[in-house]
Amino acid sequence: MAAWLSWLERLVHIEEATGSSPVAATIISFMLVTTHGLLGALIGKEVGFPPLAFLLGFISHFLLDSIPHCDGPDDVAGRDENDPNTKAQYALVSFDLLLSLIIVIYFLNAKLATPAMIWGAIGALLPDLIDNVPLWKKKIRKLAFFKDFHAFHAKIQSIKTSIWFGLSIQYALAIFFFCLIYLL
Ligand SMILES: [Zn+2]
Repeated sequence: MAAWLSWLERLVHIEEATGSSPVAATIISFMLVTTHGLLGALIGKEVGFPPLAFLLGFISHFLLDSIPHCDGPDDVAGRDENDPNTKAQYALVSFDLLLSLIIVIYFLNAKLATPAMIWGAIGALLPDLIDNVPLWKKKIRKLAFFKDFHAFHAKIQSIKTSIWFGLSIQYALAIFFFCLIYLL
């Protein structure tokens, strides 16, 4: 928690200093971490075999991204590369990351997490980790394969809905996946 808070504090300082944050800039425009992670974990629970969970989790990322959605007030069609510049966007990104962390801690505490679930979630988050992490995204997108990968990744989620629908559908899916993990 302390690490997360210091990260958030740094994020706010960057925003104050530069008017934008390279970290949050890369997180917007990509479906919520919570939703991707939960679907990956659900797939992992069902298949029970870590390599297959990882592969199917990875594929699931693109299926979810292709559902028309919206990731916040700064997530506007045609502005895929833009930096976020509203406090609401920062709040949303922070909430998504915090919620993901709480769910991970909950699953670990309740001893519900299995290796296949963890690998499913890693696979489900990997496309965003490859394509959108500030430390390497610019370098990696210079490579022909990853440039094409980025173009594909951006294209499948180019349809932006209204913010209310776009966030509701993502949280509804997240709740649905969470319940399925419990029930199945
Ligand atoms: Zn994505």
